[in-house]
Amino acid sequence: MNKLEYLERVPISKDNICIHREEKKCTKCGACKGICKSRIGVYDNYDMKSAKEPMCINCGQCSLVCPNHSIIENYDYQKVREAIKKNKTVIFEIAPATRFLLGDEFGYKQGKNVIYKLITALKKMGASYVFDTTFGADLTICEEATELINRIKANDRLPMFTSCCPAWVKYATYFYPNYLKNLSSCKSPILMTGAIIKKMYPDAIVVSITPCTAKKYEVTITDDVDYNLTVREIALWIKKEGIDFRNLENTRFDDFTGSTSGLIFGTSGGVSEAVIRYAYHKLTGNNPPKKLLNFEQIRGLSDIKQAKIKIKDIDISIAVINGTGDVPKIISMIENDKIHFDIIEVMACDGGCIAGGGGPKTSRINNITKNNRSNSIYKEDKKNKRKCSYQNPKIKKIYKEVLIKPGSDISHELLHKEDL
Ligand code: SF4
Repeated sequence: MNKLEYLERVPISKDNICIHREEKKCTKCGACKGICKSRIGVYDNYDMKSAKEPMCINCGQCSLVCPNHSIIENYDYQKVREAIKKNKTVIFEIAPATRFLLGDEFGYKQGKNVIYKLITALKKMGASYVFDTTFGADLTICEEATELINRIKANDRLPMFTSCCPAWVKYATYFYPNYLKNLSSCKSPILMTGAIIKKMYPDAIVVSITPCTAKKYEVTITDDVDYNLTVREIALWIKKEGIDFRNLENTRFDDFTGSTSGLIFGTSGGVSEAVIRYAYHKLTGNNPPKKLLNFEQIRGLSDIKQAKIKIKDIDISIAVINGTGDVPKIISMIENDKIHFDIIEVMACDGGCIAGGGGPKTSRINNITKNNRSNSIYKEDKKNKRKCSYQNPKIKKIYKEVLIKPGSDISHELLHKEDL
């Protein structure tokens, strides 16, 4: 491997499943190295002189900041188009943050929710069905909150780390393998949604649409989802089809919708807030109080957010990190300062998936952009009546008919990864 390459820019292996570099476009400006070093914490974290292959957690932040469009995600939309041409049943599922980012590509104001136009576009392009990944996020919440309560009660493998960000999971595998046992065994929302779809439509091709390049890697780990398309990629496909996106009518999801607990997954702090809402109900039988439906302490863009709450006689200490570059700080808090946490949410991207590496490059990804997107998410949460996963009738139905209850054997079989 060329050592000079390391000095100038992030090296990218030819075998990288998620991204590649078009050499001709690269001016060696070093923007990719800058973000990988400062916020993702990978570039400086390994011995680049002795490494045989470049380490990459697939977050795609380098592709988002590259000003020359030299680093690009590996496209899969042509394969999906082929499957549609062959009259296969192709089912799309749309991740929570996607709807608040895609509009940037079509000239909408930042944070505009364009989900119903996206569904229409997908139907025009041949989708058999379009479902909402917030359904899978609701499932993740039910399973993860149950897992958290069980671990707290048994004082087992605490802190529990969230596991829905595949880039964070890969980061932990590289740099903190001794903490892998602490990760939640829950699959991510796209995989949980895919697992339920495949149970009902075993021959379907399942395609997730997310702002995430790392999910291109994640979908190769299980059989739940066949392809992941990024927001940039679906925008490109829609444009190539000559679809007049702004003038599309609205179409609703075919099935599998979620509560707004599932929606807030798209922004940093959302997973923890949603899990706490569910845990409150599970432990008390009541709906969470207003404070927990507007959990200010863990919202926003601060690097590390912390909160402590008591539900009945159980104390829960929470930390939220956005940007894997801050993981060493939290590990030092645990190991050196002996600070106890029960749950730690980690998202590789700064701000969470609202600033995912596969998001539009038409906006500058600064704090204004991130706040515009997350404010839209919280606004929808505020006005929605179903703010908690257990209030979602689709979730009640799937547990009644298939999964029995969170943490059941069948839930584990379909919705958990016993081996990361
Ligand atoms: Fe993907 Fe979201 Fe993780 Fe970024 S924070 S790598 S977009 S799952």
